[in-house]
Amino acid sequence: MIETPLKKTRLLLLAAIRRASGLVRSSGADGAGSGMRGFKPVIAVAGVGIAFFLAVFIVVSPSAFSQLFSDVAPPTPLPPNAAAPVRPPADPKTERYDFKLGKDDTFYSLMSSLKTPGPEISAIAEKARPIYDLKRLRKGTVLRVYSVDNRWSKIEYAFGDYETLVVESAGGVRAYKTELPHEKKTTLISGTIENSLYEDGVKAGADPRLIIELSNIFAWDVDFASDLRHGDSFSILAEMLYVNGRPVRAGRILGAEMVNGGRKYTAIYFADKNGGGYYDAGGKSLERTLLKSPLRYSRITSYFTNRRFHPVLKVYRPHHGIDYAAPTGTPVEAAGSGKVIFAGWKNGFGNFIAVRHIGNFTTGYGHLSRIARGIRPGAKVRQGEVIGFVGATGIATGPHLHYEVRINNRPVNPLSIKSIPERSLAGRERAKFASTRRSVMGRLEATAVAGRAPRANLLYSKSN
Ligand SMILES: [Zn+2]
Repeated sequence: MIETPLKKTRLLLLAAIRRASGLVRSSGADGAGSGMRGFKPVIAVAGVGIAFFLAVFIVVSPSAFSQLFSDVAPPTPLPPNAAAPVRPPADPKTERYDFKLGKDDTFYSLMSSLKTPGPEISAIAEKARPIYDLKRLRKGTVLRVYSVDNRWSKIEYAFGDYETLVVESAGGVRAYKTELPHEKKTTLISGTIENSLYEDGVKAGADPRLIIELSNIFAWDVDFASDLRHGDSFSILAEMLYVNGRPVRAGRILGAEMVNGGRKYTAIYFADKNGGGYYDAGGKSLERTLLKSPLRYSRITSYFTNRRFHPVLKVYRPHHGIDYAAPTGTPVEAAGSGKVIFAGWKNGFGNFIAVRHIGNFTTGYGHLSRIARGIRPGAKVRQGEVIGFVGATGIATGPHLHYEVRINNRPVNPLSIKSIPERSLAGRERAKFASTRRSVMGRLEATAVAGRAPRANLLYSKSN
């Protein structure tokens, strides 16, 4: 029943890594789930400051302790070292509980079980709302409640990486926020590909979210499913949040470089009036009509050709697409935004999806084990949205994705398409971008100077 904050934090971290390594598009910071972080200093201060009070520190489920705060002294399970402290009889009895919310618990039900009148609970939530909406508390979050003489006196909830909501009852309900000392610094991580972007990224010290973000940034230029080679390299300049002097979480990537097959790609984050995005050194957005590959992690087993010996049909025929080997169930992403024009069974292609994009492009995805929910003719899809899952339906020797691209209904080699940048910076924005580029690239290039892997002779600028 007793959980140490440290153990809890480590578990949360593990869960975060597991989630991040699930090869899905990261949706950014996850503020919830860091419930215990930031409590350590509070424990220390409270422990010293109110040593003469009886202080109980346990994690309890609210439903299991509905008798807490009642007039009868609760049969509280005391930690072994907290037995029978000596205290003056006139002192108010102060206690401290960390409540872990169960599946059906809410802030309201928790406070009700502590015999707090309904209107008072509403008043607490009302006062707290500008800082944190307590209605959002979910299963598993930990809420610290102090009581004096069996009545709540203070509530604390750590809701961010360094922020804690505090509500006090003394002199009328009052809510405020405390923050641990924190700052954002930039960090530079670089490495060389020996096994996979993921493994080598982690080895270089990048947090899994950064690696996924890096593959998102270059998804239009680099086919991470098949293009990566031994000796390719990457550099990431990212924001890092430090709390109490310790790195806690990676933030936005400010700039990145990727050398793939001797070709260098640069990404610079730039916020313009339409929001932020990534641009190449020439000020063209990295976002294009089509992604380089509809799969993240797999390998090409069959290329685009006009004559191929079909492994099942045992005849020579053209293969107007790319086959990617990947385990059944691997998510398949729409290579570009557009409208679904076909979703269903198509002869030898089994479960097949076709999507129409701007510029007379269509993409097709075959042998799917399953078509994602909501994907039917007429449905709109966003670039990178999961539309189906790898399988071996139709005529196939094993699980793989057949991927094809057509322009004006004529099949083209997906690996040789040059699709158009979505936008290009001009005018005053271009001047602003130039100064951002100077500072970001200056810091990125610092790695090469530091001599990690000087490969300058191999590099040439990307041009479209
Ligand atoms: Zn194929």
